[in-house]
Amino acid sequence: MATHKLLMLPGDGIGPEVMGQVEQIVSWFGKQGLGSFEIEKGLVGGTAYDAHGKAISDSDMKLAQDADAVLFGAVGGPKWADVPYQHRPEAGLLRLRKDLGLFANLRPAICYPALASASSLKPEVVEGLDILIVRELTGGVYFGEPKEIVTLEDGQKRGVDTQLYTTGEIERITRVAFELARTRRNKLSSAEKHNVMKTGVLWKQTVTALHAKEYADVELEHVLADNCAMQLVRWPKQYDVIVCDNLFGDILSDVAAMLTGSLGMLPSASLGAEDPATGKRKALYEPVHGSAPDIAGKGLANPIAMIGSFAMALRYSFGAGDAADRLEGAIADVLGSGTRTKDIAAPGANAVSTSEMGQAIVKALEARG
Ligand code: NAD
Repeated sequence: MATHKLLMLPGDGIGPEVMGQVEQIVSWFGKQGLGSFEIEKGLVGGTAYDAHGKAISDSDMKLAQDADAVLFGAVGGPKWADVPYQHRPEAGLLRLRKDLGLFANLRPAICYPALASASSLKPEVVEGLDILIVRELTGGVYFGEPKEIVTLEDGQKRGVDTQLYTTGEIERITRVAFELARTRRNKLSSAEKHNVMKTGVLWKQTVTALHAKEYADVELEHVLADNCAMQLVRWPKQYDVIVCDNLFGDILSDVAAMLTGSLGMLPSASLGAEDPATGKRKALYEPVHGSAPDIAGKGLANPIAMIGSFAMALRYSFGAGDAADRLEGAIADVLGSGTRTKDIAAPGANAVSTSEMGQAIVKALEARG
C-alpha cells in the first residue's frame, strides 16, 4: 500500500480544534489498514508569526513542497491585526498557493438531506444538491498589472485593476473542470461575461475550442456570470460543474456555499498542475471558513468542513475514492441521526461539541463496516 505524505497546518483560532478531529479519522483509516499516512505538522498564520516572525517558515514551505497533500485549518485573528502587512496571517496561505502553483480551486456545494431545512432557500430547491465550482485561482483581476491608485492632474484619484487571461491559463483550468465533469454527471457550465469583457470573449472561444478538440463527450453550456448567480439561487440543481475565472469564482462559490446552510460544512481543494512524470498534483485542502475567533477554544466549532476537506484529499490526491465515499457517507449518517453542532442545530435544540462530532463520525465509520 502506498504511503501518503500529509502535512497538517492547523493555523489559528478554531483551526487546531477542527484539525484535531481529522487526526482521529486519519488514525482510524490507518488502524483499519484502509490507508497508510505519514503525517508532518507545521505552523501557519499568526501562530507561525509568533514562532518565526513570518506567516510560514521556509522549512514548513519545504515540507509543503514535499507533501502529497497539505491540510490547512484557518488563519487570522484580532491578536495579529497590527503585524506588518507582509507578515499578516493570510500571507502564509497566499505563499502556499503561489509557491505550490495552486491554480484550480474546487468548491463543492453538497446539501445533505438532513440539513435541507437549514438553507435559506426552500428545502425542495436544495435537497440532494451536489454541484462543484471550479475557480481559476492564480490569475485574473486579483493579480493583473497595472494594479494601483494614482492621483490625476485635477486632484482626483483613480483606482486601476487589470483583468488578464491567456489561452494557456484558460485551457488548464477548463481541462481540470472537464475531467471532473467526466467523473460526475458529465456536464460543464462555463460562466463569463463575453457580452461586455474581452477576457470573457477569449474565455468562451477557448472553452469552446477545447471542448470540440478534446471533450466533445461532455455536455457544455455557456452562461453569463450574472445569470449564473441568479440561476444558483433559483434552481441550483440544473448545474453539475461550473468553471469560471478568479473574480466570478470568488462570488459564485460564496453564493453556492450558502445554499448548503453553514460555513462549518464547506470543504475545498486547491490543485496545481499535473507532474507528467508522476501524474501527481500539488494540492492543498482547507475548509472555506476562517479562524472564527468568536468561538475559538470553546468546543463549538463544527469540524465537518475540515473533515470533508480530508475526504477531498482522499479522492483527489490519494486515489482513494472509496474511502472518500465512506467518510462522506459517515458524515451523512451522523447528520441523519440528528447529531448537530450549534451552528447547524435548530434554535434551542441540543448541540454536541467539536470533539463529540468528531467521535460520532468515527463511530459512524465503524458502523459502516
Ligand atoms: P469566519 O469564517 O472565521 O467566521 C464567520 C462566522 O462563521 C463566525 O460567526 C464563526 O463563528 C462562524 N463559523 C466559521 N466557521 C465555523 C465552524 N467551523 N463552526 C461553527 N461556526 C463557524 O470569518 P470571519 O469572522 O470573517 O473571519 C475571522 C478570521 O478568519 C479573520 O481574521 C479572517 O481574516 C480569517 N479568515 C481566514 C480564512 C482562511 O484561513 N482561509 C478565511 C476567511 C477568514
